[in-house]
Amino acid sequence: MSRRRKGRTGGIGRRFLAPVLCCALLAGLLCGCGQTEIPSATRDIFAMDTYMTLTCYGEHAEEALARAVEEIHRLDDLLSTGKADSEVSRLNAEGGGPVSLQTQTMIEEALRVYRRTEGAFDITVYPLMELWGFTGDSPAVPDEEALRTCLEKVGADRLKLSGDMLTMGEGQAIDLGAIAKGYTSARLMQIFGEYELTSAIVSLGGNVQCFGTKPDGSLWRCGIREPEGDGYFGVVQAADKAVITSGGYERFFEEAGQTYHHILDPRTGQPARAGLISATVVSENGMLADALSTACYVMGLEDSADYWREYGAEQGGTFELILMTEDEEVWITEGLKEAFTTECPLHVITAEGVE
Ligand code: ADP
Ligand code: MG
Repeated sequence: MSRRRKGRTGGIGRRFLAPVLCCALLAGLLCGCGQTEIPSATRDIFAMDTYMTLTCYGEHAEEALARAVEEIHRLDDLLSTGKADSEVSRLNAEGGGPVSLQTQTMIEEALRVYRRTEGAFDITVYPLMELWGFTGDSPAVPDEEALRTCLEKVGADRLKLSGDMLTMGEGQAIDLGAIAKGYTSARLMQIFGEYELTSAIVSLGGNVQCFGTKPDGSLWRCGIREPEGDGYFGVVQAADKAVITSGGYERFFEEAGQTYHHILDPRTGQPARAGLISATVVSENGMLADALSTACYVMGLEDSADYWREYGAEQGGTFELILMTEDEEVWITEGLKEAFTTECPLHVITAEGVE
């Protein structure tokens, strides 16, 4: 199986180094940190099955960084389906039970996005992920009968969350993989606030969230990765934002000349093919941006644009989109007109239609 930024298997050298280096370049070169006296600290780690880079600026940069790394590992231990003793694994083994506040927060958000996307985003997708073998190292196309049976287990409408008590339907299992890294980067921003950092930027497997501006007061420049190739197809300038991308290129395998990737349409059980090759969400809310980047990838251009028109300006949950279609044209929502630059053909989604 190919993993662009995932590392459990070998062969990640170049694919891993490119984004990490670029992130370091973006964080270092573009921040003008050579001209400032502000203490800084940076670290690369491997957690949540991906490579991460964290860079902090402020009097307490080192302490904030240490606390952030500790928090990432704590959340990884809580949320990983790959760890038998994680909270999520316990919930899956026992068909539910009491959940921690963090897990409760993520499930509540996931259920909201599930309802609003009419099931395009669905954390009960886990049995399908297992059936396709995406949870292990030898994925393969399942047979139709097995897929049909498995699909019966999928449907977040059968999850019941009352307070901190979760119950699941027969045979159901959850996977917070589409929301966990965004939740984590949002948590890191809280920590950075507590340590009174002046600036910070984290890249959790390519999911970027920035705290404040660059140390020199200018905006961060976040590159959006090319689905094919190691470069970037556009740049967003941002402060205090998460910039989170989903794409089938992140993790996939080939069988009989066909490519199959890890973002599934929970309604068909097949890898989502709605005409997008990359979906990015820009928002102050990292958890929302992560859930929506996956949801938009599954929904495709038209439904994502409608979703933005309906919910994009909601209080506490404003977001903007950068979508790339299979023909490598880019569609952004109106709010990014000034902040986003690309050399690709560009269209602007507005409240009324398309510009
Ligand atoms: P990545 O984790 O690769 O950055 P995403 O945020 O898009 O990308 O999350 C993909 C993960 O989400 C998959 O590995 C799987 O665990 C889970 N997933 C796949 N399809 C869906 C879906 N339709 N709804 C919710 N979760 C999904
Ligand atoms: Mg996601």
